[in-house]
Amino acid sequence: MAVYSHSRLETFQNCPLSYKYQYIEGIKSERDSIEAFMGSCVHETLEKLYRDLSLSKLNTEEELADFYNQAWRRNWHDKVFIVRKDYTAENYRETGERGIRDYYRRYAPFDQGRTVWIEQRIKVDLDQDGRYSIIGFVDRLADLGDGVYEVHDYKSSSSLPSQEKLDDDRQLALYQLAVHDYFSDAREVELVWHYLVFDKELRSKRTPEQLAALKDEVIRLIHEIESTQEFEASEGPLCEWCGYQDICPKRKHLFVVESLPPKEFKEDEGVALADRYAALREEEKRIKEEIEEAKRELWEYAQQMGVENVRGSDAVLSVKKVVKPGFPPSGSKERAALEEVCRELGRFEEVSVLYTPKLTKVVADRAWEESELARLEPFVSWNESIEVRMRKARKLEEPD
Ligand code: SF4
Repeated sequence: MAVYSHSRLETFQNCPLSYKYQYIEGIKSERDSIEAFMGSCVHETLEKLYRDLSLSKLNTEEELADFYNQAWRRNWHDKVFIVRKDYTAENYRETGERGIRDYYRRYAPFDQGRTVWIEQRIKVDLDQDGRYSIIGFVDRLADLGDGVYEVHDYKSSSSLPSQEKLDDDRQLALYQLAVHDYFSDAREVELVWHYLVFDKELRSKRTPEQLAALKDEVIRLIHEIESTQEFEASEGPLCEWCGYQDICPKRKHLFVVESLPPKEFKEDEGVALADRYAALREEEKRIKEEIEEAKRELWEYAQQMGVENVRGSDAVLSVKKVVKPGFPPSGSKERAALEEVCRELGRFEEVSVLYTPKLTKVVADRAWEESELARLEPFVSWNESIEVRMRKARKLEEPD
């Protein structure tokens, strides 16, 4: 049985394909987002602070800030990337330093409990037989005495979570399970997050029932992962931060061409094809608008001339105004009421037809029971087509 961690589970939930790259194929990404890089420098610095404190050495704020800046320089590499182009690496470095300084001022001389774990590797069994277990690294565990413990976690993200989200957080709750396993006197455990960018301390607690439910939930998720055959790409905002953009079929082309100089960008075959398609779609839209305009003009002409047929070079156009009834859109309350009236009149069958787009989805997603789908099978023909969907691309950097 593979060993799981919170981040392994989270990777699967965010994007099964990146899970496959990382945990099944073992592909290591050399790229580091600046946020992850800053986070690791901050963690290294706070680890030093508490390791030194455990040997009665209290660093000054300046010493700690120096350590952070040295870690930044020592660890920096050319594969660190910045997604938010409005900010520089220096902005991030400064933000991390400010977070460290704020933390120092808030907690010095750091006597809130006795630190018992620093960057501690833990393993938690989720079931009696130890078939399902979770490993992780606890940033810090503080013993407040009298069986009270605090699990501390440092965050350097640039947004604050809601209390609801924290009360549902899986990572620290799993670490709480480890505290109960490792410390028999632990009767009360509090989960504490330090959001360094905001100089904020946020807290949450779990009941024994919630912890038991969490174990079941994680085991269910592990089952889901282990029964997954197709690790599909789940494209979304997080892709910008993904280290596998250079190999992922959803992002590879974007990743490669977005770093090209403007001339080479325009010459890329894929860019040219996409531009041609987008231009044709624009043209299609313009032609549709033009057809509507031509219809209006034809109608006015026919009215003025008192005619119903208009002769062109190769076609005769019959022009007339028709008034057709309209009905409320599907899904609306009014539409449901209308359907009800038709049923009451015993006329529903007469005016309803099988909605095949919905049926297509049912069959494609295998949404009904297999026995039901088998009844449909003789009527299904599988037709190949090419689907192209268009969305707006993010603006590229202007050349210097
Ligand atoms: S780039 Fe996006 S879709 Fe591709 S593997 Fe990464 S997260 Fe998944």
